[in-house]
Amino acid sequence: MAEDLHRAGADPVGEGAPKRPWHRRLSLTTWIFIALALGVLCGLALQGAPELADAYVKPFGTIFLNLIKMIVVPLVLFSIMAGVVSLDDVRQVGAIGGKTILFYLATTACAVTLGLVFANVMSVGAGYVMDAGELAYETPAAPSLVDTLVNIFPSNFVQPMADATMLQVIVIAVVFGFGILAAGSKAAPVVAVVEGLNEVCIKIMRGILLVAPIGVFGLITPVIANNGPDVLLPLLWLVVVAYVAMACQIAVVYSGLIKLVARKSPLAFLRGEAPVMGFAFASASSVGSLPLNIECAEKMGVSKPVASFVLPLGATINMDGTAIYQGVCAMFIAQVFGIELSLGQQMTIVLTSVLASIGTAGVPGSGMIMLAMVLQSVGLPVEGVALVAGVDRILDMMRTVVNVTGDAAVAQCVDAMDRRGAARRAARKAA
Ligand code: ASP
Repeated sequence: MAEDLHRAGADPVGEGAPKRPWHRRLSLTTWIFIALALGVLCGLALQGAPELADAYVKPFGTIFLNLIKMIVVPLVLFSIMAGVVSLDDVRQVGAIGGKTILFYLATTACAVTLGLVFANVMSVGAGYVMDAGELAYETPAAPSLVDTLVNIFPSNFVQPMADATMLQVIVIAVVFGFGILAAGSKAAPVVAVVEGLNEVCIKIMRGILLVAPIGVFGLITPVIANNGPDVLLPLLWLVVVAYVAMACQIAVVYSGLIKLVARKSPLAFLRGEAPVMGFAFASASSVGSLPLNIECAEKMGVSKPVASFVLPLGATINMDGTAIYQGVCAMFIAQVFGIELSLGQQMTIVLTSVLASIGTAGVPGSGMIMLAMVLQSVGLPVEGVALVAGVDRILDMMRTVVNVTGDAAVAQCVDAMDRRGAARRAARKAA
């Protein structure tokens, strides 16, 4: 599949070699982008009748997302378990896990700070005339900070998998992975089962990804048809500020990490990550983009154990785009309501946004629910969520692109550091 994804599209060479039909000469990546462009065009064409897009095109996207949701729980469970087991040294798991979490926290803190800086400098709320009628919106209840932390630990083995509560699934996978390591040779058959099931999940996931272009088309068309210029225009400046901050996170923070820590070309990284970005944009789901992200990371040279540990964790806890969105929206709401936020309050926003983005599920729209928690932390009116709800999907698509790119950048860095560490250890042993 990795070859399929990035196949250069060359024809078999040599005398008499059969020419591949034109549609098989394009790579899956190209197909995903063709589907994205076609979906945007169809969505624009159907703006007068979005119900047609909902009735006839959306089901294809829904079926595709359902298939992904079906495979993502066993995939995360077995890939993390297999990742922990394959490291076969508890200390190494700890070292990789520690580095990963530090990178995730640092990049998310950078992200929300960038969001606040751009929102301040570009006066995100300027010129917005509030219409009280727009606030007739029921704000979803956000969980408290303590609840968010306590909820990481499941009290039941099966429930988290049925509900796809990914953070709890990860805890189960890590705990069982450690259990298998601790049991040593007695658990050898379990290791074989875990590794076997992991392979099975990967094969299924690759099959599902083959129909990704149809899924992307089915997902993007109704979004464009339903979110025409009418919704977008009044809040255009908010969207512009958020997009600029998010683009900056990719161009400066991730590219810097790739250059300085992973010591690779940022452009090559972005090129390799492009299919995942396109997919994340269309689906607005980090968890949905996870299979493709693993695929592309491995294709770009990240080792299997690192990719299968760092990326599922990132799809669950590392949401830099969401953190930027929360910073920009908090500032926007403060400015629209004429509330001055002190530096201390803005620091509180940084802290709560980091935690809120950890608690955000990697599915469409969940960042908006967690926004309420950020607003509450500094006493901003929670009704403000209603103001941004109209353009949420447009913001969601881009924040998901940043979310998945952040995971991939950290995977590259952790992998590079791990390889350098191994080389140093080997050199020391040889000396
Ligand atoms: N849709 C985002 C994601 O899946 C989460 C969010 O709503 O911010 O990464």
